[in-house]
Amino acid sequence: MADSEIVVGYDIGGTKIGIGLASSDGKILGRRRIKNKDTHPEDVLPQLAQCGLDMVKEASLKRKDIKGFGISAPGPSDIANGVLTAPPNNQYWRNVPIQKYLEEKLQLPGCFENDANCGALAEGFFGAGRGISDFIYMTMSTGIGGGIVTGGTLVRGVGFYGGEIGHTVLEANSTRKCGCGLYGCYESFCGGRSIALFLQEKLKDRPDHKIVECAGGKVEDIDMLALEKAYRAGDAFAAEVWDEMSMRNAQAMGILINTFNPKRLILGTLAWAIGDIYTDPIRKYLPRFCWTETREQCELTASELRRDIGYYAGAAAAIYFLLGRRM
Ligand SMILES: [Zn+2]
Repeated sequence: MADSEIVVGYDIGGTKIGIGLASSDGKILGRRRIKNKDTHPEDVLPQLAQCGLDMVKEASLKRKDIKGFGISAPGPSDIANGVLTAPPNNQYWRNVPIQKYLEEKLQLPGCFENDANCGALAEGFFGAGRGISDFIYMTMSTGIGGGIVTGGTLVRGVGFYGGEIGHTVLEANSTRKCGCGLYGCYESFCGGRSIALFLQEKLKDRPDHKIVECAGGKVEDIDMLALEKAYRAGDAFAAEVWDEMSMRNAQAMGILINTFNPKRLILGTLAWAIGDIYTDPIRKYLPRFCWTETREQCELTASELRRDIGYYAGAAAAIYFLLGRRM
């Protein structure tokens, strides 16, 4: 086992940026958060550099003690060149060469990867994927993303689109349009945003419906939480939607389980926030979508890092790409 090495990680979110100073043996030595709502890159980039340097100092370290930094980025991005091209929630950030900027300011080598893949690496080095070389991490939140680790290696693909699980089409003739432009994507059935929009449309003339009540009486405020509340309260339509969601989750996971034969599927936000009533119905449907052998070899588990994953994500990328560590 090599000595522990220290890296900096940046997790670029639509409303905040998480910065973590982490050691390759899994310790977080410092963490910071910077607001990133309606910001301009020329204001934020210098803060990112300064913050990284401050954290190194606060940990009583010197810059030469740091091996590099990683950036966990939202899509769409130019992964090969470390450029944030058009992050969906930051209208002023267009074609920002963030990796090059930080490399110059920090005088350290950097790397850049999409947030779902970074999440997989983070779980692999620090969370529910530790000690396992075949696992899949699935961000299950407003959208659905994935990071696939097979034989200890992250699947990136020739154009860095590898692992885009959420945009596997599950229904060829579906009318459910996905944000990506395709119809019937996994995300269009199970992403939190898609489910919310679907329910808002379905219930737009039903202000008295239980799901609307659970959303505080406003159709436009219907979200996954409102659906969950109505489902727990025994509403029949909520149960129907929940069942469809569970079946589609199982369908997508079954494809992954039979294709990659992973030891674990590590599930993000919705799974740990909602708990067993989210995952149990998926388990119930799984036998329809994959073989007994592969299913029995695969454990469905919730993310261990949960909402802290951002502090680990960029650092995990640095550990993987710059230090060359493998799962
Ligand atoms: Zn899609």
